[in-house]
Amino acid sequence: MDLEKFRARAARKKKDLTAFLNKLDEIVPVGMPEVVAKADEKVWQEIDCTQCANCCKTMTPAFSKADIIRIATHLRMRPSDFRDKWLKKEESSGDWVNTTQPCQFLVDNKCSIYAVRPSDCAEFPHHNKKPFDEYNETFKNNLVHCPATLNLVERLKKVVERDFEW
Ligand code: SF4
Ligand code: SF4
Repeated sequence: MDLEKFRARAARKKKDLTAFLNKLDEIVPVGMPEVVAKADEKVWQEIDCTQCANCCKTMTPAFSKADIIRIATHLRMRPSDFRDKWLKKEESSGDWVNTTQPCQFLVDNKCSIYAVRPSDCAEFPHHNKKPFDEYNETFKNNLVHCPATLNLVERLKKVVERDFEW
């Protein structure tokens, strides 16, 4: 995965794709869940997360209380020590987040705590959330972070503009 190329493409496409997602906030074509599922299947035939890890390099998950307890236990640490060592409380949301990027658990481009990773990481990039359009804000933000989301929204725009009057 050439992340430099991805960043350049994302910067070029962001305005158009954001406008598409904005429109999708207002109008949701009939059959959208099926359109999303079909496009998403194609995305994952092209994208291999183990060759990317850009989310782990440039973003932070929100760590829930359950995440902190589970990961701290896995690392044989006390949850308070775990928080003190790696996390900070984000003022705007009150979420516990990483203090640095890339994530401290990314080792050789892979998650070293994969089996117990935060649920936010396990659910990323949220393509199968329903209804899809309720996550448009997330997708708008992730267009420049996640090659899979960029690929998905490009596909959706193409199909919706070709097959639907909206
Ligand atoms: S916990 Fe693992 S999956 Fe989540 S950001 Fe860190 S390295 Fe990536
Ligand atoms: S979820 Fe997106 S940003 Fe993260 S590794 Fe996969 S393609 Fe890359």
